[in-house]
Order: sequence, then structure tokens, then C-alpha cells
Amino acid sequence: MTRWRYAAATDTGLVRETNQDAYFVDDAVAIVADGMGGHAAGEVASAMSVDIIYDAFVATPTVDGMVAAIDSANRQVLADAAAHPERFGMGTTLVIAALIEDKGATHPVVFHVGDSRVYQLRDGALRQLTSDHSVAEEWVRMGRLTAEEALVHPRRHQLTRAIGVDQPLEIDVRSVTAQAGDRLLLCSDGLSNELTDEQIAILATSSASLEEAVQALVSAAKDHGGRDNITAVLVEFDAVSDGFAPLEATMTPLPPTPPEAPRPDPVPRAPKTRRRVTWRSAVVATVILGVVAAGVGILHWYAYANFYIGAKGQEVVIYQGQPGGVLLWKPTTVAVTPFPLHQFRSADQQLIHSTISEPSSQAAVEYVGYLHQQWQLSQPTTTTTTTTQPAPKG
Ligand code: MG
Repeated sequence: MTRWRYAAATDTGLVRETNQDAYFVDDAVAIVADGMGGHAAGEVASAMSVDIIYDAFVATPTVDGMVAAIDSANRQVLADAAAHPERFGMGTTLVIAALIEDKGATHPVVFHVGDSRVYQLRDGALRQLTSDHSVAEEWVRMGRLTAEEALVHPRRHQLTRAIGVDQPLEIDVRSVTAQAGDRLLLCSDGLSNELTDEQIAILATSSASLEEAVQALVSAAKDHGGRDNITAVLVEFDAVSDGFAPLEATMTPLPPTPPEAPRPDPVPRAPKTRRRVTWRSAVVATVILGVVAAGVGILHWYAYANFYIGAKGQEVVIYQGQPGGVLLWKPTTVAVTPFPLHQFRSADQQLIHSTISEPSSQAAVEYVGYLHQQWQLSQPTTTTTTTTQPAPKG
């Protein structure tokens, strides 16, 4: 039987006005969600997701159950944002560690979307179990940036995956091989951005008390700037199941192998010129077809591997596809933003007209929000409050 003890701490930090992080932890599941979106929307997305996931997972405490729970949170956040235009662009990251029973043993499994993180700590050393779904990290994986450049890149905080952006949602799932005494730290980027790996490793392991450790982590993040909401959830394994079965094996059952057809004995063939020509043309035709199919596949992939911000009349729209399209594959509309074109600075309007490419729809949504905010900041500071009163009758 695998068991853990746990402690958690969260703090608004020194700069933000509200805490949009949400968390939950008990003896079977630990969740950290870092909400984003203007006004109170980020708080809505993170709190809502934690509630939905906890309830759904308790009902079906399996890997598939958790994936379905996360998927359900994604759908509900999307639906809620569609029903409330003021919550446009709201979303949340998610990291989850759950103890999941399988074949009589319980194993820790980590689920992840976005740039919140899970670290595993053993003997004072730290290992990051998740890789950020951010523009800069994707560019590192594509070879466009080095890991060092990514650390300071202006788009390192822009997410490529989050709850509340797209349907379907891609979720990273991995099993964790733990031993008694290991700790898992789940945290929002308000912690990981302020502290180095070494600082996190020391603070998360030096105290025997989990409560003291999470407090020390949050205080240190504040001492280093506290520029964002900070959340740390720490669990420590008291006992670990024997007979660990790697999750990958149980998650992706191999399709049954079809029985192999008996091979006919090779029959010696007399060389016949005509037959050889036919055989050769078949091979040539197959190769040509293969090349064409691969080409079509690559083109189709290319046609939709891009997102961009563009203008459609007075509307600012997020598209998936290449501007102008590729052959028959035209860009599709991902979202019409609630910001009309005139609510952008004129230089940005020109940029939007000539389209701005983004690696994901989340990145596009965030960038539109950012540009719109820049326009708002450039406006004369008058507060306009419009109060509509019903005209007196009679
Ligand atoms: Mg954050």
C-alpha cells in the first residue's frame, strides 16, 4: 500500500492583487492549478477545475478516470467562458499527483497541462517530472532556442497548452517510481520562476516537517520578488507498494497481433521478362503513391501547424492555418475575440492586418489580450462608468 503525508501553502505574492492559484490535497490526490484571465476569470477557471476534477476522480479513481475528469474540466471551463464573454481567454494550468490502484497495488501517477511543475525529491536532490508547455520550451524542443535562452526569453510564460483553450486537450501522463521517504513538490510558476532548482531542492528537503518546508518555499519565493501567486504542495511517501508495474504498460495495451499467415514455400521461378516488368511497375507505382501520400500528409500538417491573429472587418480573430491557406486547406476560425480592431494601438492594428503567427491558440489568445491591454494603458486615464437607468414610465 502506497501512502503519503502532505502539506500545502499558497500566497498572493507581493505584486498581484488576487490569488488565482487553487489547490487541493488529501491522502489520495494533490492538485495545483494556476488560473489566468482578466478580472476574476482566472480564479474561476482554477477553482472550478480543481472542484470538477476532485469530484470526478473520487467517482472513478483510475488513470482513465482522471483523464476523463481533466477533459470534463476543460469542457466546462470552455462552456463557462463561452457563456460569459467577460471571461474570454480564461484558463488554467494543472498539475496533479494521484495514488491510483491497479492490480492490487497503488502507484503515484502525474498528470500535467501547462507550466506548473512537479518535482521529485530524494536524498536532497531534485528531478523535474514535467516539462513546461510554454512557447519558449516548445522552441527549445524544436531547436529554435537553447535552454539558457529560454530561461530569459520574453515568451517563456506564454502557454501552448492549458485548460480552457482547445477541445480536445492533450494531457501528459506519467507514472512515478517512488520509494519511502521520497517527496513530490507540486507548484505554480510563481515558485519555480523565483527560485533556482538548487534553492527549491534545499528548501523542500531540509526540514523534516512538511508544513515548515512549504512555508519556507513560499517565503523564499516572496523574498526573491514574489511577482506572481505562489503555491506549493508537498507530499512525502511513508510507504510504497511492492510489485511496481510501469504505467505505460497498463495504459497502452498493445492491439492483439493478428495470426501470421503461413508463408508459402518459395517456388523457384523461371525468369520471365514480361513478369519482371509488371513487378517493377507495381513497385514504381507504389513508391510514387507513397511519395504523393507523404507529400499530402506533410502539406496538410503544415497547413494547420500554425495559429495566427488576423482581422476580419472590425473583428479580431484567431485562426488555425497558414494565412491565405495552403492549396485547398483554408484557415479555420478558432475564436472571435471580444475586442474590436479599433481597440488596439494603430501600429498593432497594422500588425493584426498583416497577421501575427503564434505557436498555439493559447499563445494567440494571450497575445491578443496583451495587445488589447497595451491599448487600454495608452488611453487617457478617465474612468468611464456607464449606468443605464430605465426611463421613467408615464
Ligand atoms: Mg502563475
